[in-house]
Amino acid sequence: MRTDQDQPVRLADYQPPGWLVETVHLDVVLDATATRVRARLKLRPNPAAPAAAPLTLDGDALALQSIALDGTALPADAYTATPDKLSIAQPPQRSFELTVETLVDPTANTQLSGLYRAGDTYCTQCEAEGFRRITYFPDRPDVMAVYTTRIEAEKADAPVLLANGNLVESGDIAGTTRHFAVWQDPFPKPSYLFALVGGTLGHVEDTFVTMSGRRVMLRIYVEPGKEDRAGFAMDALKRAMRWDEQAFGREYDLDIFMIVAVSAFNMGAMENKGLNVFNDKYVLASPQTATDIDYASIDGIIAHEYFHNWTGNRITCRDWFQLCLKEGLTVFRDQEYTADQRSRPVKRIADVRILRAHQFVEDAGPLAHPVRPEVYREINNFYTATVYDKGAEIVRMLAVLLGTDGFRRGLDLYFQRHDGHAATVEDFIACFADATKADLGPFMRWYRQAGTPEVAVTISHDPKARTCTLDVTQMLRPTPGQPDKEPVVIPLALGLVGPDGRDLPLRLADGRAAERGVVTLTRPSESFVFSDVAARPVASLNRAFSAPIKLTTNLTGDDLRFLAAHDGDPFNRWQALQTLGSMLLTDNVRAQRAGAPMRTDAGLIEALGAILAEPALEPAFVAQALTVPSEADVARELGQDVDPDAIFAARTALRAAIGDALGAALRETYRRLSGGGPYSPDAASAGRRSLKNVALDLLAASGGAAAIALAAQQYQTADNMTDRMAAVATLSLHPVPERQAAIDDFYRRFEADPLVIDKWFALQAAIPEAATLGRVRELAQHTAFSLGNPNRVRSLIGAFAQTNQTQFNRADGAGYAFLADTVLALDSRNPQVASRLMTAFRSWRALESGRRAKAEAELRRVAVAPSLSTDVRDIVERSLAPA
Ligand SMILES: [Zn+2]
Repeated sequence: MRTDQDQPVRLADYQPPGWLVETVHLDVVLDATATRVRARLKLRPNPAAPAAAPLTLDGDALALQSIALDGTALPADAYTATPDKLSIAQPPQRSFELTVETLVDPTANTQLSGLYRAGDTYCTQCEAEGFRRITYFPDRPDVMAVYTTRIEAEKADAPVLLANGNLVESGDIAGTTRHFAVWQDPFPKPSYLFALVGGTLGHVEDTFVTMSGRRVMLRIYVEPGKEDRAGFAMDALKRAMRWDEQAFGREYDLDIFMIVAVSAFNMGAMENKGLNVFNDKYVLASPQTATDIDYASIDGIIAHEYFHNWTGNRITCRDWFQLCLKEGLTVFRDQEYTADQRSRPVKRIADVRILRAHQFVEDAGPLAHPVRPEVYREINNFYTATVYDKGAEIVRMLAVLLGTDGFRRGLDLYFQRHDGHAATVEDFIACFADATKADLGPFMRWYRQAGTPEVAVTISHDPKARTCTLDVTQMLRPTPGQPDKEPVVIPLALGLVGPDGRDLPLRLADGRAAERGVVTLTRPSESFVFSDVAARPVASLNRAFSAPIKLTTNLTGDDLRFLAAHDGDPFNRWQALQTLGSMLLTDNVRAQRAGAPMRTDAGLIEALGAILAEPALEPAFVAQALTVPSEADVARELGQDVDPDAIFAARTALRAAIGDALGAALRETYRRLSGGGPYSPDAASAGRRSLKNVALDLLAASGGAAAIALAAQQYQTADNMTDRMAAVATLSLHPVPERQAAIDDFYRRFEADPLVIDKWFALQAAIPEAATLGRVRELAQHTAFSLGNPNRVRSLIGAFAQTNQTQFNRADGAGYAFLADTVLALDSRNPQVASRLMTAFRSWRALESGRRAKAEAELRRVAVAPSLSTDVRDIVERSLAPA
């Protein structure tokens, strides 16, 4: 238990480290329960810190075995060692070498932070504060050192020994059954990027020649026998390496780049220098076991972790408050990679869906925090949608504001100025300001203020003056700790679409330019007058979602249908349909709450039919257009008095109406897109499958027995997981005998494959009917389930709490009680995963009063539970804090 972490850590209290570490020599003797770690640190006083600093090293549950200074054992009165701290009150005020020996038990490490075992594989996870669970160290990102790691193990126990950097030596230890390997990483790095792996692993291998002609060895390590599922990840890695050279001029630096897939991992993946460690879910793929979405995730995550080599590793964060510096920028980079590799509009739509579903929701609730938080009690709770996804949106806004060239100049300056250093958000923004002479002072508010800006635009046309005026206001609601807000700088990309469907030239009447089709909002309210506008145009606003805002306008239903048909910006064509759908669904939820009948919207369905009939559109785009706002989207739009059953009913009615009205076209679409050659995960093929499966799902939603039969047949005959999974997911929404038959068959087919069985758990956890909670309770006792494996927990419990809106939010509160029980059972074992589950309560205040009271009761029950982890306590207390 890290008791010192109960004290909040504040950005304002930042002090430079008293001591710097020049080199770290680690000697790790692997053993399942008693791994011996000898760390030799070359320390020197930091000239930037106050003089005569004592030396305090961080620890977490450590057992000190020995300590020596310049080779001489330290007397017991010269230091104090506790499990979470090692202090030397009066160290010599000069460079010296400290040797510390600790003993750690990887098998007992169920938190999966530090050195632990995933199956039989030894591996590490050090971000954010896991290195201190291996050895005593100034475990903060602004202490960057050069690491040399010697690993020793029984050959039978761990034939493969890996660490960061380049392999410099390896061999058998004469006269024993043991062997060793020495890895050296020449690039200074913070401790959170340290990694070590030992185990029995197979691998695939390839090479990459960098833009300057250096040959780099690429290796992906997996459990033996799964090598044939690593091919796509290798392909993604090579494409990512090439793309980063072409798009940003960034070249790889070591002789070898390795990825290791492990079966037990708290997160998605980790960018350790030269040795990325991945959740195997994001490496392993075959057509029979992975869906198109899995393939796309692997592509994006392999790229993301690789891109960190420059944005995160070579330039790291000064402190954990700056987490968005590496994550926001790297998410932006992986989004751009995917947009270039696949479809830019479809990628943007998918990212905005995720942003709204997670970040907007976070921003609207008690866990709202700035992209750069100013205080934390547990940093692991800040790996959030806000830091990652809103962080990426801020970088994207910079690119919109400065233009492609200005943005690139700023980023080049950042790489040049800060390579090898630990930087801050201010350092980052200063590079763009210096490179372009832009005043980015007010722009910094995006990092400091939580909450989603609400922008209202009133559009008016004056035919006599031939002007079109946009009257714009912006508002930011209070969030925890931030009652008053300042206006933010909002780049609003827009077009005025003329009656012929074409964009009019944008001429601002005051002579200002709307460069690249963007006006920049800076004030609480302001107006933009466009001249030479003869006929009434339809304004297309926030094109490509140029700013992460909530936008309301006075556009009419006719205007939105016009944009859906004619907007030159594909994102806004999709958005127009979403807005129409959202208006209908929120109206119908309110109608149900008032006991009034629901309305229909023939115009919306006609517009969807027109999109379906437009042959030039990408199938993946059409699939997005036909996907109505999710239950969570509707709940977020409502914002209060949320009744998940009413939302479900409204959404079910709309989907049935679409399936009914467009039945013939959907059947034709399904027929046209069925068949084809052997499975390929490429974006175009995936897009065709996604449209085909959306068509099937809508047909089934309209209640036709023929569609159920079609889904059952597709389930049986599918030659790939995408089609098989889509079919069983469609069946899962209907209480028909075919559903249970498919669920049972799925288990029999894939019982030997835990990653596929995760899909089986998630599918059943998401069924929107009253029996589901009982089913989830039973599945939690299934032999294939384990609370000890984060992927299993997320697939069953996480899917239930985060995707099953009606059943998690059961009116009787049983869903909340189940989640609270699970969190309490998991907390002592794995607090990071437990606290992540707990965030499912983040929107509890928006619920209607009955559910709100039941959710609050469960939060209060968890809050008073004995020996809660800091992780869970932090989430619960922030969730309950007065609004
Ligand atoms: Zn990352």
